[in-house]
Amino acid sequence: MANKIFVYIDHFNGQALPASWEAVGVARTLADHFSSVVTAVVLGYEVEGLANLSIEYGADRVLMGDDPELKDYRPEPFAEMVSQLTTEAEILVLPTTSRTRELAGMVAVDLETGMAPDVITFEIDGDAVLATRPIYAGKLLTKVVCREKRPQIITLRTRAFPKPEPDSGRSGEVIRVEVVMGEVVTEVTGYTESEAGVSLADAAIIVSGGRGVSSNPKLTPPDEITDEKEQEMWRAQQGFALVRQLAETLGAAMGASRAAVDAGYIPYPHQVGQTGKVVSPDLYVACGISGAIQHLAGMRTSKVIVAINKDSEAPIFKLARFGVAGDLFDIVPAFTRALKERLGK
Ligand SMILES: Cc1cc2nc3c(=O)[nH]c(=O)nc-3n(C[C@H](O)[C@H](O)[C@H](O)COP(=O)(O)OP(=O)(O)OC[C@H]3O[C@@H](n4cnc5c(N)ncnc54)[C@H](O)[C@@H]3O)c2cc1C
Repeated sequence: MANKIFVYIDHFNGQALPASWEAVGVARTLADHFSSVVTAVVLGYEVEGLANLSIEYGADRVLMGDDPELKDYRPEPFAEMVSQLTTEAEILVLPTTSRTRELAGMVAVDLETGMAPDVITFEIDGDAVLATRPIYAGKLLTKVVCREKRPQIITLRTRAFPKPEPDSGRSGEVIRVEVVMGEVVTEVTGYTESEAGVSLADAAIIVSGGRGVSSNPKLTPPDEITDEKEQEMWRAQQGFALVRQLAETLGAAMGASRAAVDAGYIPYPHQVGQTGKVVSPDLYVACGISGAIQHLAGMRTSKVIVAINKDSEAPIFKLARFGVAGDLFDIVPAFTRALKERLGK
């Protein structure tokens, strides 16, 4: 399998997502198993730094398409380029991101092969990769293999595999490839940041709040807030301030259930679940979240789950490693205080 393990480096403006390095780590493991080399595919504009970094993380050679036409990711030209560059590949590994979900699918169609998305673990069976991925909102795990066609394409769930340490002493070859594409029919006209600071997919710790966070009956809104919805929003703000303090103490990202997002307590980029972000942190703390299947679909693979809920029958407790059945308005501040003491904050 010489030169047959390929990995795609997903990035934004030359900044790789950490998940790309996790993918390089998996490609390295596969290449070592098959006594092969890792070929990274880097596409973009002024991406030489990224190509060199790919070698530090474990690639042996890099196919680099560096062209102003590739400055902005668009599915058609990127799929065309990746398909051209990976026709000889046995295995193509990608991180799972919103871009690579479509990219990997389009490349699989172009190369008439199969793909397994959102892989959380795998085994090697002969020269085939037996990939395990969650289905039905994470209720079932399925094993997928592509025996006949090549390349076998797998996209890896973020944080399901370790990120290798970069080694600035590693050497490898960067090969500039000619960028030949058909007509590119779409143009990116700009970017708008939806909300700064939310990087749930990469977070090692997430503290999430649900509808329960707005339900503190002991809190009386100021007299001037008379509207019922505004009173609810005020309560939610007070409740989320407690959850945020816990998150800050732990150095965690803030997550939320869809009920909290739909009610307007917190913006959509924080939503975890089937129609939000899929996360796999080391620690997930769910405050006032019942544990509906659609929420569990987004955080089921967290390594340690802590649930705080006043209903001891709430489904979240079935999944949680540690559960506290009680009022979050007592428990969350007490938890934060205890952590601050422990951490000397
Ligand atoms: C197609 C589809 C897609 C969906 N996608 C998603 C998704 O991506 N993410 C998602 O989260 N949901 C999603 N949902 C919605 C999902 O079904 C649930 O409605 C939602 O997850 C419920 O959010 P919640 O747990 O915050 O609210 P609830 O189910 O209302 O639970 C609130 C919890 O807070 C507890 N509580 C209340 N007060 C306190 C207190 N003082 N102290 C401690 N606990 C308290 C209650 O006991 C309760 O368990 C989807 C639904 C559909 C149909």
